[in-house]
Amino acid sequence: MTVETKNKTYLNFVNGEWVASVSGEVKTNLNPANTDDVVGAIQMSTKEELNDAVKAAKQAQKAWRKLSGNERGAYLFKAADILENRLDEIAECMTREMGKTLPEAKGETARGVAILRYYAGEGLRSEGDVIPSTDPSALMFTKRAPLGVVGVITPWNFPVAIPLWKMAPALIYGNAVVIKPAQEAAVTCAKVVECLEEAGFPKGVVNLVTGSGSVIGQALTDHPDVAGITFTGSNTVGKGIGQGCLARGAKYQLEMGGKNPVIVAKDADLNLAVEATISGAFRSTGQKCTATSRVIVEADVYEKFKEKLLSKTAELIIGDGLSENVWMGPCASENQLKTVLHYIEKGKEEGAALIAGGNRLKGEVFDKGYFVEPTIFENVSPDMTIAQEEIFGPVIALIQVNHLEDAIKVANDVEFGLSASIFTTNIQQMLSFVDEMEAGLVRVNSESAGVELQAPFGGMKQSSSHSREQGQAAKEFFTSIKTVFVK
Ligand code: NAP
Ligand code: MG
Repeated sequence: MTVETKNKTYLNFVNGEWVASVSGEVKTNLNPANTDDVVGAIQMSTKEELNDAVKAAKQAQKAWRKLSGNERGAYLFKAADILENRLDEIAECMTREMGKTLPEAKGETARGVAILRYYAGEGLRSEGDVIPSTDPSALMFTKRAPLGVVGVITPWNFPVAIPLWKMAPALIYGNAVVIKPAQEAAVTCAKVVECLEEAGFPKGVVNLVTGSGSVIGQALTDHPDVAGITFTGSNTVGKGIGQGCLARGAKYQLEMGGKNPVIVAKDADLNLAVEATISGAFRSTGQKCTATSRVIVEADVYEKFKEKLLSKTAELIIGDGLSENVWMGPCASENQLKTVLHYIEKGKEEGAALIAGGNRLKGEVFDKGYFVEPTIFENVSPDMTIAQEEIFGPVIALIQVNHLEDAIKVANDVEFGLSASIFTTNIQQMLSFVDEMEAGLVRVNSESAGVELQAPFGGMKQSSSHSREQGQAAKEFFTSIKTVFVK
């Protein structure tokens, strides 16, 4: 393929310039709700171009880190205003590029604006502690130093929020960044980078290189001048990045998959539990790392909960996320659709009972997209594949248990530990759940998917590298502590 002229090709942003790749190779991103709609094309860049970006970032970081936090913050505040002005356009691009509904895309873009403002303010907040020395005539304190060049590798499911919740803290603490976004959402990410460009960041402080993970992502991971990699995506890729970084002594942060449970106790507000289950499992077509994928229900209320869940699920309107009434869009890509259908088959093969959905949607509005029905299985035993592996699609596994203790045991019996929620009105049960649940995000009477930018985010067990992102926790990754002793 050669660089297309009829549709815009988004270039790399390196050292303050939009540059074409010598590869001449592009990937065209199509709307997963209607593959006749071409969203734009991205370049399949070369390793040399990634090296150019790292070189520019390394050079630019020297002056960037010398600015005061307040000065760096001013760029982030400006970027927030620019993104806010382009919110509708960028949200629409996101919906067309990866399928989530327009209200969700707008909400995410607004979150991006808030993330930029939160970290802009961080430039004026405390960066260390004074610690009493045993020497009465000495002053001992800590301060923070940036890492240097930070590599940012992101997935397609939050094309605005994830790049920003990584880049904004990296930048405010004095790092320069090179971002390699997921191919499937790279046009939207390029627009975010346009906002940063317009905010006037010094050249080389922010760089974007698009292309394949195995070439650009790998080269970023292996580059001796990249001091840290922040990654969100699948476990397989994440583990590889972690090993690559460890081998050369670079810092790394991995946020990966989940198999998030909701527990419904017999004393729960069932209407609330049903609403939250549907929202957690089916919004964004189940493609959130915090999405609900297992619902563990106490036997006493199982039938009642199931009936309510089925009747609410039947009301959901599926279609193009740009259409006003649509509640759930398509899978983000053909691959993703195939994965979901594969897991549905697996569920049937292993003996779970399909009680809702289970099919690719067909017919006029659906034939040009990657639509799948919201799907519910029952008679799921905790060891089945659909109860163990991350599906990343709108599929619920209903599991019945006799007692709450069994529910927590089942909830913990997976390799992941990202988010979990319980619906109960019993305080003792809430406290047991909070104490015993092995998950980084533990929620009571609220859906499993839900993140606030000012609070730490991350998982336990196989869901993360045990680091945390967002809020004040971001400082731990994007800086190193210096302990200073002055006499
Ligand atoms: P992915 O396949 O792991 O890709 C993530 C990013 O890594 C993409 O930019 C990808 O590039 C890149 N990559 C691929 N191979 C690489 C390599 N060898 N070296 C360096 N980078 C490489 O994940 P995805 O399919 O985009 O996203 C879905 C997954 O992300 C799910 O498993 C989900 O649970 C997880 N996720 C987790 C969180 C969280 O915070 N815990 C949030 C969102 C998503 P390409 O685009 O070229 O493949
Ligand atoms: Mg992928």
